[in-house]
Amino acid sequence: MSTELHFKKIALIGVGLIGSSLSRVIRRDGLADEIVGCARRPETRKAILRLNLADSVTDDPAAAVEGADLVILCTPVGAYASVAKAMAPALSPGAIVSDVGSVKRGAIDAIRPHLPAGVHLVPAHPIAGTENSGPESGFETLFEGRWTILTPEPGTDEGAVERVAALWRRTGSMIEMMDADHHDQVLAITSHVPHLIAYTIVGTATDLEERLRSEVIKFAASGFRDFTRIAASDPVMWRDIFLSNKDAVLEMLGRLTEDISGVQRAIRDGNGDRLEALFTRTREIRRSVVEAGQHIAPEKPENG
Ligand code: NAP
Repeated sequence: MSTELHFKKIALIGVGLIGSSLSRVIRRDGLADEIVGCARRPETRKAILRLNLADSVTDDPAAAVEGADLVILCTPVGAYASVAKAMAPALSPGAIVSDVGSVKRGAIDAIRPHLPAGVHLVPAHPIAGTENSGPESGFETLFEGRWTILTPEPGTDEGAVERVAALWRRTGSMIEMMDADHHDQVLAITSHVPHLIAYTIVGTATDLEERLRSEVIKFAASGFRDFTRIAASDPVMWRDIFLSNKDAVLEMLGRLTEDISGVQRAIRDGNGDRLEALFTRTREIRRSVVEAGQHIAPEKPENG
């Protein structure tokens, strides 16, 4: 285990599922002399202190980042621009600013214009999560065996990138480097569009007449259940993801719509061969996901 990774003061702007899971690892491994947590609501700040996720709390991003050598934005992406603007004047020269947002080009565009010269921006996205929110929902094993994608712009200080990578390695995560636009396309199809499908299908079921709707819930185990889990994800976070990754999501949705029309046509024509060929191909994809060890959703341990 590396012994060199240490920060004087880490400011976590937003301490929900992701921020609190990270804080638990920072605490466990003693990676910072001090952690400051920033959140808007008094009940969130109280929970952060009660759970010992930070040494102090504030609702002011500028106060949080003062003297910090690492600042990590862990709020929904839609809050980034106002948070970055508020904290910018208090950032120390040489500080690293990172984030955990699910969209990377939008994150860079929201943060970058506010950063003073000499502050390093190292955007990150841990590909791990659950449908739960808030400081209580985090746990220290959330990122174990998962990928974290870093999307630094060309020319970013290598030392800063390595320190952020090292932090994520300490969570048990594996690191991949990627261009921000490429990240957004990959995540549009692997995460964003699947969530949109879940939200939509559960919405469609909700609109059904009363009798049908109660049977949908009763017989949910036949496939609907997994959609309801995904569709229980945080509404604000997902609103921001779709608004910030508009182009890539619309591109992937266009392709999906075409493919659904093809399947519709195959069913109408009684073209079993076409359906079977598709389902055989998709079964192979599932096998690859299992072989890559990415098939089990992270779950909070009972006592975690
Ligand atoms: P969450 O559990 O809802 O936590 C969000 C935190 O941010 C809360 O502490 C909230 O507290 C605080 N917050 C919100 N707006 C704020 C603002 N303007 N200023 C200061 N604090 C603010 O969310 P999460 O699931 O951890 O997601 C956080 C980020 O991680 C998002 O950008 C998301 O895209 C990314 N992400 C999520 C997942 C996932 O599966 N959940 C996975 C990977 C990445 P208050 O409401 O009290 O302010």
